[in-house]
Amino acid sequence: PEPSPLQPALTGSFSSPAGGNPTGAMVEAAFAHHGVPARYVNCDVPPPRLPDAVRGAVAMGWTGFNLSLPNKQAVIPLLDGLAPSAALIGAVNCVQVTDRGLIGHNTDGEGFVQALRERRDPRGLHAVVFGAGGAARAIAVELALAGVARLTIVNRRVERAEEIVRIVQDSSATSAAAVAWAGSFALPADTDVVVNGTSIGLAPDVDARVDVVADTILPGMLVCDVIPNPPDTVLLREARTHGAETLDGRSMLVNQAAINLGLWMGLDPDRAVMRAALDTAIGDGRH
Ligand code: NDP
Repeated sequence: PEPSPLQPALTGSFSSPAGGNPTGAMVEAAFAHHGVPARYVNCDVPPPRLPDAVRGAVAMGWTGFNLSLPNKQAVIPLLDGLAPSAALIGAVNCVQVTDRGLIGHNTDGEGFVQALRERRDPRGLHAVVFGAGGAARAIAVELALAGVARLTIVNRRVERAEEIVRIVQDSSATSAAAVAWAGSFALPADTDVVVNGTSIGLAPDVDARVDVVADTILPGMLVCDVIPNPPDTVLLREARTHGAETLDGRSMLVNQAAINLGLWMGLDPDRAVMRAALDTAIGDGRH
């Protein structure tokens, strides 16, 4: 049956812990704004209960669902198919329930690239990405698929950066290099986009600083952060001091959720409405 106010379409998230997950606030604000009869249920589901939760969602006719930590890899064996970028990234944060079964996507990196496109055409750019964990990996893969010319991946444990370099080189025309992060990193002068893809700066550690030689941040660079909380990190403040443009982690979070609504119900939601709901839900994030 068609969703109606008395029988809404069902979506939601399976993660653990789930209490701090603000996605439902953004998504339900979009449903309300666009008059879509749908709900988003934020569920605490640790990995041992994930298979039952997924079967339950299918049994109840859910339209789709998100996965967050620690379920982004654990869900993969439960799916029937993977979108190409999710297969490359090796993690799924969004599942579509379809006639062809359960299809896994990774919209984290795509959300980042969509936010980036509002400022820069990624084609031909040189991007420097700090970090090689889940977020950095999704961003690096999507930047390569979006046509950046060069990627420099800087990580403390360099072997994790090297693994991303291999994936990027096997799947795109982007030239990629891994750099061990030891001491302060000097940005090459031809850097167009800088991305903090690490967890440095996440509340409560709000004074932690991405160790980059501050004078190598130049006007004309776009400096981006994945940290949603607080949105204005030390790195972004420092970048503005040096005349660079900035893009915060909440833009990625909003765009990622917006892409999910497209996959689930063909909705192209108003990002400003979602951003306002996100800001209300998590405040300035400094605690
Ligand atoms: P992971 O644990 O997978 O990766 C963490 C990364 O940070 C690793 O590269 C790690 O380096 C690096 N790192 C952590 N602490 C330090 C440090 N003190 N010095 C140098 N490097 C450090 O985490 P995720 O990738 O899942 O998440 C990273 C951040 O991204 C989180 O803060 C999360 O909130 C945010 N995020 C934001 C999203 C958004 O939409 N805005 C979406 C997803 C995540 P090493 O490998 O050497 O240990």
